[in-house]
Amino acid sequence: MMTFEELGLDARLIQATSELGYVNPTQIQEKAIPVLLSGTKDFIGLAQTGTGKTAAFGLPLLHIIKEEDRFPQALIVCPTRELCMQIVNEIELFKKHMKGISVVAVYGGASIGLQIRDLKRGVQIVVATPGRLIDLIERKAINLEQIKYVVLDEADEMLNMGFKDDIEFILQNTPKRESTWLFSATMPPEIRKVSKKYMNEPFEVTVGKVNSGNKSIDHQYYITQAQHRYETLKRLIDFNPGIYGIIFTRTKVDAQDIAEKLTREGYDIDALHGDLTQAQRDKVMGEFRDKTLQLLIATDVAARGIDVQGITHVINYELPDDIEVYTHRSGRTGRAGNTGICMSIVHARETFKLKAIERLIQSTFNRVDVPTGKDVCRKQFYAVMDKILETDISHGDYDTFLPMLQEKFADVSKEEILQRMAAVEFDRFLKYYENAEDLNLRDAGRQPRTRDYADRNAPAGGGRERERGGRNERSERGERPAYGGGNTATAGYARLFVNLGTKDGFYKASFVQFILDMSDLKKEVLGRIDMKDMNSWVEVEEGASHQMIRCLDGKNYKGRRIRMNDANSR
Ligand code: AMP
Repeated sequence: MMTFEELGLDARLIQATSELGYVNPTQIQEKAIPVLLSGTKDFIGLAQTGTGKTAAFGLPLLHIIKEEDRFPQALIVCPTRELCMQIVNEIELFKKHMKGISVVAVYGGASIGLQIRDLKRGVQIVVATPGRLIDLIERKAINLEQIKYVVLDEADEMLNMGFKDDIEFILQNTPKRESTWLFSATMPPEIRKVSKKYMNEPFEVTVGKVNSGNKSIDHQYYITQAQHRYETLKRLIDFNPGIYGIIFTRTKVDAQDIAEKLTREGYDIDALHGDLTQAQRDKVMGEFRDKTLQLLIATDVAARGIDVQGITHVINYELPDDIEVYTHRSGRTGRAGNTGICMSIVHARETFKLKAIERLIQSTFNRVDVPTGKDVCRKQFYAVMDKILETDISHGDYDTFLPMLQEKFADVSKEEILQRMAAVEFDRFLKYYENAEDLNLRDAGRQPRTRDYADRNAPAGGGRERERGGRNERSERGERPAYGGGNTATAGYARLFVNLGTKDGFYKASFVQFILDMSDLKKEVLGRIDMKDMNSWVEVEEGASHQMIRCLDGKNYKGRRIRMNDANSR
């Protein structure tokens, strides 16, 4: 592995990289920097975002810029305002020890007057979005005459966004251009054409495979019915408590609707789409960046160029129409050596697209089951436990509260306190998912992968299907569902009374779990369950009711003696 010293960079740049904690150059840096330092060689870098490409062009650019010449010598063109600001921020960090170099960002949606003033100060590097740059050229506020180096970053995105003519205009209006450096995640034919027209025998470097998705991304898909898309989305979010993600929709109406629905249901989410003003867009992006928002829902156009670090998940609410767009979506996660997950909610009729995307990303999709309600509850439960264990109590005055807390909880066992704490956070999920249905569309696509989170005790796919079919069958025959209400005994079942109820902190699901755990019986033996504040009635198949009574009656629950008997013989 090489070092930054070996690449031949200015000592001040090496110092900056080491202060940033960069130990070794990334692959693209190792390949690009020695070539770019010449300043005269055209260059094509095929690299995904997250590979360290900003430093791959930023560091050599700072090295070859003439500090004493106070006019624009380098122009970096990129698709969006966010990316523009991010590039400037990174360059500012790299040039920390090069006080004579100035860099400015010019992008749409911000005051052009202020940007013109900044340009007049005498800057050497201009980072621009195409539209604003053309605007400035037309106002004669920027002179490209002396530009020696043009960097096109995320060239494929710029072309996708319809900036082809602008890019050509910029390349045609930089007469003193000594070299052009083009970076792109994919190499569509239009980019090839532009490079042939404006570049001279470019030195081409590929990091990973051309058109390939980032290997650090786990590509998953979930098959469900079209009408279950929203529910499936919620499950995926709930199953990943620490998610920091972007959800992609095809239309702005969907983005807006889903954001509103999820917000009403208590999720930290906002939408990014073309109808927002620049100020609204900045607000949303600001909140997402500082993690006030855990989730962002966006259309493809609105999300282009967004570069936020640390995205854990990308969720495709629907697959994109244009499969190339999948690469841009999934590339938002799994950056800078991190791993990420790209989850696609897929309808049975869309599965044909998966093959084509697999060819494009040169990676395979994994089919994963939509988590069951039980999976979600368990995951949330462990997340609450982890949160309690990881909470920092070293600062603050917690010691002073201790005597008061001890007094308040004097008669409550440690186990009960833990249960109650979990319930405070966990209730919403337990209630919501108590009788949640299976959202998987079986018999479609490839077989689901067995996941770590899969409920080891639950029957596998086919078994769950049978269980679901069983319930449906019963209701179709007009029989009562497994855990229905009512107060008359059903033939074949014994109706048991028990002196436990909701006042004991039980919900139906936790109560069922409790009596099944105590009696070591399977839930299939249960019939109707009727819970009241202080007591409950449980229907148990006649053959199993004695075991239930034997295992519960006389036992203790939270210091109270459980009484269970056959209600009819009472
Ligand atoms: P980019 O592909 O330019 O968006 O870079 C992705 C991230 O990788 C940024 O946060 C950089 O600060 C970081 N990065 C770039 N080069 C290196 C390096 N050599 N070592 C560690 N991190 C790096």
